[in-house]
This record gives sequence, C-alpha cells and structure tokens, in this order.
Amino acid sequence: MPTPPDTGKVLLVGAGPGAADLMTVRALRAVQGAQALLYDALVPDEILALAPAGCLRIQTGKRAGKASMKQETINRLMLRLALRGRTVVRLKGGDPSVFGRSGEERAFLEAHGVAVEVIPGVTAASAAAAQFGFPLTHRGEARRVAFATARVQDGAVVEEGWAALADAQTTVALYMARDAAAAVAGRLIGAGRAPDTPAVAVENAGRADARLIGASLADLPAALAAAAPEGPVVLVIGEAVAQARAAGAGQPLRASA
Ligand code: SAH
Repeated sequence: MPTPPDTGKVLLVGAGPGAADLMTVRALRAVQGAQALLYDALVPDEILALAPAGCLRIQTGKRAGKASMKQETINRLMLRLALRGRTVVRLKGGDPSVFGRSGEERAFLEAHGVAVEVIPGVTAASAAAAQFGFPLTHRGEARRVAFATARVQDGAVVEEGWAALADAQTTVALYMARDAAAAVAGRLIGAGRAPDTPAVAVENAGRADARLIGASLADLPAALAAAAPEGPVVLVIGEAVAQARAAGAGQPLRASA
C-alpha cells in the first residue's frame, strides 16, 4: 500500500523520569510541536502542559492494577492519526528504548509506511543514581550495568535469566519489580549474588518527592515492605550502590568498600 504524500509522522519521545527539566531540549520541542499527544500514566501534568492548546491529548496507560489501553489499540490510534497527516507524539516515561515498547511500535508503524523518530530520555535508573549520589558503573567495582525486569508469568517470577545478573561486578537496575522484590532478591541470592550486596529502592526518581530506601540485597524486601511506596520504584543492586546518600546529604549511607 503506497503511503499518501501528506502522511504525518510519529515521534516516540522519552519524557524522562517525571520532572520537566529532565527532558531533553529535543523532547521539549517535540511536545511543543505535537498535534496529537498519546501519553503514559507516568507522565506528569507539568509536562503535558507543555503541549499546544489545540493538541489532541489521549492517555493510554493507567497506574498498576487499573486497565490500560491495549497495545494494539494504541498502535492503530497512532497509525490513524499519522495517516491523517498529524504529527503524533507518543510520550513515554524515562527512555522509550528501555521497557518502552519502542521496538514494537516502530515495527508496526514502519510496516504501514509511517516514519518514526525516537527521541531518547533519562531512564529511571540514571535519574535515581544522579539524585542519590551513586554511579551505575565504578572503576574496579562495577564493570557492567544490566537493565532488567522481573518477568512474571501467572503471578510468579520466572526462573531463567538470573545467573546473568549474579556477577559481583554487575550493577542490576530492576524495573517493574516493586511488588516482586522478595522473589527478585531470592532468585539473585540463589544464583550466587552475595546477600550483603548493597541495594536500594528509589521511588519517584528524578522528582522532588523521591525517596531512597537503602538496605542490603537480603534486607531489601523487608525494607521495601516497611516503606510501602505507592509511586514507581526502581531497584538498583550492586557494589557501586554503597555510595548512595540521602538527597542533599554529604556522606554516603555506607562507605564504599
Ligand atoms: N521507559 C521507562 C521504564 C518504563 S517501565 C524508563 O526508561 O525509565 C516502568 C517502570 O519504570 C516502573 O515500574 C519503575 O520500575 C520504573 N520507573 C519509571 N519511572 C520511574 C521513576 N520516576 N522512579 C522510579 N522508577 C521509575
């Protein structure tokens, strides 16, 4: 099917972790130029307010537990709007290439002749590290970073894949794992990761109301349960995390080994 000459395009845009000033300038310009904006639940009003007054706004995702628009519906909607010649901005929390389905959406749209551009964003783990003063890599201690998620099937965390994250020099950033911290810690320790590995949970990373919950890998599930966070949480596990400090505080929570 040939693409009509007045087809619009779709920008898959990273909104960053939730503070407008952590967007890239390119992302900001994209939002300011949007004719249709499809946005995830994690994108705050402060950022939605940057879109022009006449822009069509559609929320596609709801917070955990509530219904979200099906991926197929989102794809069709973006396609329909682009074929009508609109500049469509698909605004996602963090970076679109990290658990943001950018691969699927790009493939679908390109298969239908619609041009796609991806604009990167600050991913939650980067925002957490910056805000709480720890690096994701550290010379001699953390040679690798893994962005991972605890894949859950039928309510249980899947077994395979944990060995790759057990290496002592890998910093593990776990997304969508807030409610699976006990299973995650159990699997990692089971795969050989030391139980006293520094571990933090960061809620609302990058925002003014961010919270650091610090512990060891073995103690993280209990610390997280006691803190009962309601916002999005990224877990970061590894030796480099020992450098974490409360926002604004000078001293690390625990001196690095
Ligand atoms: N593309 C996003 C990730 C989307 S998956 C990114 O690059 O950050 C959704 C998960 O991201 C949440 O379950 C949580 O684990 C994490 N997350 C997103 N925003 C966050 C924030 N501000 N603070 C902590 N975790 C966040």
